[in-house]
Amino acid sequence: MAISAGSRVMITGGAGYIGAHTAKAVAEMGLVPVVYDSLSSGYREAVHWGPFFHGDIRDPLALREALTLHDVKAVIHFAGLIEVGRSVARPDLFWDHNVSGTTVLLTAMRERSVERLVFSSSAAVYGQDDVGSLAPIPEAAFKAPASPYGATKLAAEWLIEAQCRAYGLSAVALRYFNAAGADPSGLIGEAHDPETHLIPLAFNAALGGGRPLTVFGQDFGTPDGTCLRDYVHVQDLASAHLAALSVELPRGGFEAVNIGTGVGRSVLEVIEAVSRAVGRPVPYSIGDRRAGDPTSLVADPSRALALLGWSPKRSTLDLIVGDAFQWERSPRYGSGQRASRIKTSV
Ligand code: UDP
Repeated sequence: MAISAGSRVMITGGAGYIGAHTAKAVAEMGLVPVVYDSLSSGYREAVHWGPFFHGDIRDPLALREALTLHDVKAVIHFAGLIEVGRSVARPDLFWDHNVSGTTVLLTAMRERSVERLVFSSSAAVYGQDDVGSLAPIPEAAFKAPASPYGATKLAAEWLIEAQCRAYGLSAVALRYFNAAGADPSGLIGEAHDPETHLIPLAFNAALGGGRPLTVFGQDFGTPDGTCLRDYVHVQDLASAHLAALSVELPRGGFEAVNIGTGVGRSVLEVIEAVSRAVGRPVPYSIGDRRAGDPTSLVADPSRALALLGWSPKRSTLDLIVGDAFQWERSPRYGSGQRASRIKTSV
C-alpha cells in the first residue's frame, strides 16, 4: 500500500520507548507522525516530530476526534500496558487496555475508513517452552503465552485478524523479541518506571546508581547457564514498522511477523558487553529464576525478510549497548534521580 509523502500516520503510544523511535523514523520517511498518547507511561518530552494528541486508547470520542482532525491515513498501534509481572497481578487492567483498547481503535478506524494498521505484538505470544529448546521460533510455533500480557497480545492479534476479514482492513502484527538500545541522537531512549529490563539495570548497576544486578538463574540448558534472548536495536524495530506500513497486502489481509535477529545472547554476554562499554565491571550476583522466563527466545526472522524486505542493520550487541550507554549517561527524561547519579558518577 503506497502512502503518499506528507500523509499523516497516527502512532498510538507514540510517547513511549518504541513508539517515539518509530515516530522519528516515520518523519524521516516524509510522513507526519500524529502521536496519540495518554502519557500514563509515555513522556511528552519524547514527542518531537509531529502533532501530539492527548488521549486514552479506550476513549472512542477522543480517538475519533484525533483521526478526523488530522485526516489520518494509517495507524501504528503501540498503546497498551507492558509490564509482564503486573499483568499477573492485574489481568483485568491488561485486557481492558490491550484488548478492549484495540477494539475501540478498530471501530474508530472503520468509521473513518482508515484501512492499514501495524500492531505492536510480542514474542510473549509464544510463551514458555517445556523442553528448553534453543531453536529459533517461527511464526507458526505453538502459542502458549506464559503471562496475561502475552495472552492479551495474542487476543488482540486474533481480534485484528478477524476484523481484517470482516471489514477489509489490512494489518501487520510485529512480534518483537527484546527491544534495546536508543536513538544515536541521544534525544530519545528507554525510560520505564519501574525499570525491569536487563540492559538499563546492568548500566544502573555498573554506573553506581542502582543495586547490583541479579542474574535470574544460571541453571538453564544454555552454554553458560543463563537465558538466551534475541536483542534488536530499537532503530531496527522502528524501520520494521515502516516496512509493514507500506507492504502490499490484499484487502482483508493480515500477517504476523517476527522481528528479531535470529541470534541469541546470554545474560552474561550482555553483562560483559555493558562492562566493555562502561569500562568497569557490572556488579552482579546469581539469583533464582524469574517466574515465567523461558530458557531461550530467539526469532526465526526469515519471514520478515521475505515479506517486508526487513533485516536488522544496527542490532549487534556492542552497537545496541553503545547507544544505550549514551542515553543512560544523560537521559533527557525518565528518572531524574538516576540521571543525576549517573552524571556525577561518570
Ligand atoms: N534478567 C536478569 N536480571 C534482571 C533482569 C533481567 O537476569 O534484573 C534476564 C531475564 O531473566 C531474561 C533477560 O535478562 O533472561 C532479559 O530480560 P528482560 O526483562 O530485559 O526482557 P524479557 O526477556 O523479559 O522480555
